[in-house]
Amino acid sequence: MNLRAVFFLLLVILTMGCTGVHITKSMNNTIVHTLYSATSNIHLVIHKGIYFLVDGDESKIENHLEALDIKPEQISFLVITHGHPDHSGAAAYFKEKHGIKIIAGKGDQQIINSGKLNKLCSTSALGDLVYSAVPKEFKAFNADVFINEETSLAEYGIDGTTYPIPSHTEGSIAIVVDGLAFVGDIIRGKAMAKRTPALHFYQCDVTRNEEVINEALT
Ligand SMILES: [Zn+2]
Repeated sequence: MNLRAVFFLLLVILTMGCTGVHITKSMNNTIVHTLYSATSNIHLVIHKGIYFLVDGDESKIENHLEALDIKPEQISFLVITHGHPDHSGAAAYFKEKHGIKIIAGKGDQQIINSGKLNKLCSTSALGDLVYSAVPKEFKAFNADVFINEETSLAEYGIDGTTYPIPSHTEGSIAIVVDGLAFVGDIIRGKAMAKRTPALHFYQCDVTRNEEVINEALT
């Protein structure tokens, strides 16, 4: 492991917390189990008895589900907030092994169909430093549903909506259910203060990113 990879690993640990920690929150008709992964937050959402996942980075997510006594067959669909390996990496696995429907942003179709990042836009010297250590490939897949406009999730039994939020990637999407918003990487928590928001290390359109965050808050 080279120096950049070691630094990246330390950064990940400081920024995202420990692997395998489950945090559960509830809001009205919704329960959210946040399964901390290595580089991203993966959420299992239970809304009015319907189970779905927001993001997934690798097949060992099944271990997290097992710890919650939840079987993959109980998952109705998986929403991918954007086509980066730490968010999309488990989509092919869940689709091929369990036939789980995948929902993703239309703007990221080329990325998820190829399994390769076409660009990663650094916003800081830190982003530049760890760039070479950031994973850039994952198992390609195709989504069953592509989102390119505000779309209701009513047909899945969910009182919720998905929105395009292009900025981190062209096809980033947000999911809002019961007043809870899952926004992928349009924002991050600071390294030593996770609840303090900060500009993500990689944003391809910083101006649009600010607009997207302001829109989400109104
Ligand atoms: Zn990302």
